[in-house]
Amino acid sequence: MLRFSPPLSVICLTLIAVPGLFAQTRAPQEPMKPLHPLEESYLRWNLAPADQAYASIDGRHLKGYVEDQSAISRRYRDNGHPQFWGRIAGTEADEENAQWLLGRFRKIGLSDVRQQAFDLPPQWMPQSWSVAVATDDKTLAVTSAQPTYRSPGTDGLDLEAVDAGFGTEGDLAGRDLRGKAVFFYSTDYFSRHSTINGGAIKRINDKGAASIFVILAVPGNIKTQFYPVGSKVPTFSLGLQDGSAIREMIGQARDRKPPRVKIKLDVTQQPGMKSSTVWGSLPGTSDETVFVIAHRDGWFEAANDNGTGVATMLGLAEFFAKIPKDRRRRTIQFLGTTGHHDGTAESGTWLAQHKEVFEKTALIINCEHTAANEMVLNNGVIQKSNWPSTLTWYVGGSPKLEDIVVKAYAAFGVPTYEIPARTPAGEIGRIYQFAPSIQLIDTGLYWHSDHETADIIPPTGLEASTRAYAKIIREIDAVDFKDLQRPPK
Ligand SMILES: [Zn+2]
Repeated sequence: MLRFSPPLSVICLTLIAVPGLFAQTRAPQEPMKPLHPLEESYLRWNLAPADQAYASIDGRHLKGYVEDQSAISRRYRDNGHPQFWGRIAGTEADEENAQWLLGRFRKIGLSDVRQQAFDLPPQWMPQSWSVAVATDDKTLAVTSAQPTYRSPGTDGLDLEAVDAGFGTEGDLAGRDLRGKAVFFYSTDYFSRHSTINGGAIKRINDKGAASIFVILAVPGNIKTQFYPVGSKVPTFSLGLQDGSAIREMIGQARDRKPPRVKIKLDVTQQPGMKSSTVWGSLPGTSDETVFVIAHRDGWFEAANDNGTGVATMLGLAEFFAKIPKDRRRRTIQFLGTTGHHDGTAESGTWLAQHKEVFEKTALIINCEHTAANEMVLNNGVIQKSNWPSTLTWYVGGSPKLEDIVVKAYAAFGVPTYEIPARTPAGEIGRIYQFAPSIQLIDTGLYWHSDHETADIIPPTGLEASTRAYAKIIREIDAVDFKDLQRPPK
């Protein structure tokens, strides 16, 4: 019988190459450190000679705008709003951000710089909350708990904790969840919606739970702000570390008293708040327009959503302000909008009701989450890479426009998915059909979380998206209005 026996050197190499095999038996090691700061090791894209005109769009400069906006969020947090914070519509952070943007627009030299104010309907404003889980011998303060948007409040609940697995039909079958605090686990990493785990929140609601907790399986203990999930009871997202600890407490108490969950959530519906669209324009030589739109609101530091989009808009304003008017075919309208995190989207609603604004619009560009790090789930931790993440993209227009857009992304190394989106998710959802329109958008692992900070924004990615948009605006100057339109259905 012929047996293959590998030489000793191969065995040794195999052992060296699979350190995980030995990790369990060794003492824990210090994590490895980067050899170079990430900021200095981002991969750079060489500009073709024909694209040197775009070299003035500088990612590090644009990242400064992201940091400015993050600082506005932190000021709001530190000014008495430690739990529900960000550049939230209607708050002082909204107004500070609007004033900041007006200032930038004026400094760049845009004309007709103005603020269009809107009265907001009463806004869901959680004032404070606390969640604690306790067994006879242990109490856990659940610091990562974040109420889902528009969650009902409570003066105080004291409930039995139950673990509902993934919240699937199979997990819930035969379970009595009435009046209980139900925890479920989700590997639906990118959902911040009622759709999580295929409608788990509705299923658990329907079984009479008194409170619901979604444990988002993103490594660490991040706080994540969900959109409304349609729950009738106080509902929270939890970080993985807290969630795993609670599931363990439930498991350990199996034959004894189950853990109890104490919940408080003080919510007010705040009337009388205001938000605004910030307008600025750069006149061209015809009555045709290009709209460049970025929503101003965001949760937590909101570095990507939508610090990057606003930075991209400003980068475009700076770039085109330096081009003499007689070489700009169309007027460019820059709009910092109220956004949509509050669920009412006043700017978008107003624009949708004023379709005439877009009568001569050759292109709408939505600047939304234009760059974040590619982050990879690797061995139970999230690794930041030194390149920008792959972006979802939408283009609605003629084959000529599609061609210009695809080539512009390729020219600057903008990573996109193979297949574009059918419709644009995000801020231009109400208006994109009024004119040819495009967008790039990233929603990564840290989207809507307290980890979405400026240090996950690659200047190279910001630069690439912004240069691509600039090239698209310039190249459509050579294309007539009618030749940019979507083909008839
Ligand atoms: Zn957004």
